[in-house]
Parts: sequence; C-alpha cells; structure tokens
Amino acid sequence: MAAAEKTISNGEPAASDALPDTVVCPGCEQSIAKDAPHCPYCCGEDGRLGAAKRGAFIGGVFGLLGGALLAAIWSSIVGPAQATWGPVLSIVVAGALTGMIVGAVRSRAG
Ligand SMILES: [Zn+2]
Repeated sequence: MAAAEKTISNGEPAASDALPDTVVCPGCEQSIAKDAPHCPYCCGEDGRLGAAKRGAFIGGVFGLLGGALLAAIWSSIVGPAQATWGPVLSIVVAGALTGMIVGAVRSRAG
C-alpha cells in the first residue's frame, strides 16, 4: 500500500492589511511604508507633483472665490441686465485658472 503522506501546514500568519512596516496615512487612510518621506497616494510617486497639485487645488479654490467675488462686484457695477452668465462665468473661470497656475508655480518653486 502507498505510504500515507502527511501534509504539514506551516502555521504562517496570513499577511493581511496590518503589515508591521506600514503606517496609515492620516490624509487618505491608506497604509504606506513607514520610512516613506511622503504618502504616494496623496503626493504621487514624486512628492513634487503632489505639492504642485495641492498648490493648484488650493490656488484654484482661492481663484474661484476671488473670481466669484470679482464677478459679483462687476455685476453690481454694470447692473443685472449686463451681467449675463457668459461674462460672469468667464470671470469666475479665469480667476480659478489663474489661481491654479499661480498655486502650482508657487508650490513648485517653494
Ligand atoms: Zn495619503
């Protein structure tokens, strides 16, 4: 008769999401390498890109607010009859774009 083979299952702990060399990013709650200088999910593989993106986002938000404020002031000056959606949107979008560019350039330089 055939020799009974014994299958030995070595009790290896299943490596789940709780790895010892990772920490959870406070920004996105993804587990990242403990020695990573920045989170690859928040900042990208290149931290510089993330900084530029973040700067562009913040700049865009401020630009949007500035553009909206400018559009509100402009519409109050020219009157509601002149302040149609076209120019108002143009001012807001131009403000947002300017803010994004300024934010990206500033974060890249800094
Ligand atoms: Zn993150």
